[in-house]
Amino acid sequence: MRYIEPHGHMVSRVTDDYQDMVTAGCAAVCEPAFWAGYDRRTASGFEDYFRQLTDSEPKRAARYGLPHFCWLCINPKESEDVGLARDVISLIPQFIDGPNVLGIGEIGLNKNSRNEVTVLEMHIDLAARHDQLILVHTPHLEDKFKGTRLILDLIQADGRIRPERVLIDHVEEHTARMVLERGHWGGMTLYPISKCTPARAIDILDLYGSDRLWLNSACDWGESVPLAVPRTALEMRRRGWSPSAIDRVIYQNPIRFLSQCPKFKLPSESVT
Ligand SMILES: [Zn+2]
Repeated sequence: MRYIEPHGHMVSRVTDDYQDMVTAGCAAVCEPAFWAGYDRRTASGFEDYFRQLTDSEPKRAARYGLPHFCWLCINPKESEDVGLARDVISLIPQFIDGPNVLGIGEIGLNKNSRNEVTVLEMHIDLAARHDQLILVHTPHLEDKFKGTRLILDLIQADGRIRPERVLIDHVEEHTARMVLERGHWGGMTLYPISKCTPARAIDILDLYGSDRLWLNSACDWGESVPLAVPRTALEMRRRGWSPSAIDRVIYQNPIRFLSQCPKFKLPSESVT
């Protein structure tokens, strides 16, 4: 089996997780900037985090031959202070041309507050000005439908963003359709207790097709499983998916979306 982990918060994981992922067939890991388990109080705290994502973490992954890519932003969970967000966003251009930086993310909304919307608009503008891919975090539980619709409207309103260059993550049964209908890609996050279980994610693939959807583990500081993608592949096999159809979802789809950034390259084979 081969797969891409397109959304893993490796700064929260131990080195053994890297070994397990490579052993299971992981060919690349992509790490969006997000909450690190605590609120950072200063812009310099984020500057150190960006250095970790663009320098230290790729080196740690490289010890196991695993290419590591990242996305940069101030995440929606820490976006309530617009002044801090403005300072953090002003740091991003100096990191954006780094060899492992894929784009701006994971931006979006957490509680759908007015300040979060302001910061989201600032990120969309940053991505447009620097011609970057966008990775979007959508809120959880009861706010998800409303928040997802709000995010899609804000992206559409900007007018400079091509929909196929935006991936909306954490889609579920009630949000996948609107994401795909707007021309975006969707990500399904496999969590043991919330978001999507493997069974639900496969149901969504059966319902909406696998053309523009990917699977990720989002493995982070909380209860999550770094091997959630290959384990879901085993469940797909059990449900009668062919090896080539599974490969398309867990390997080829992430490559198709991520290759829109010319920096996304796998060392062992040419990316098609
Ligand atoms: Zn995440």
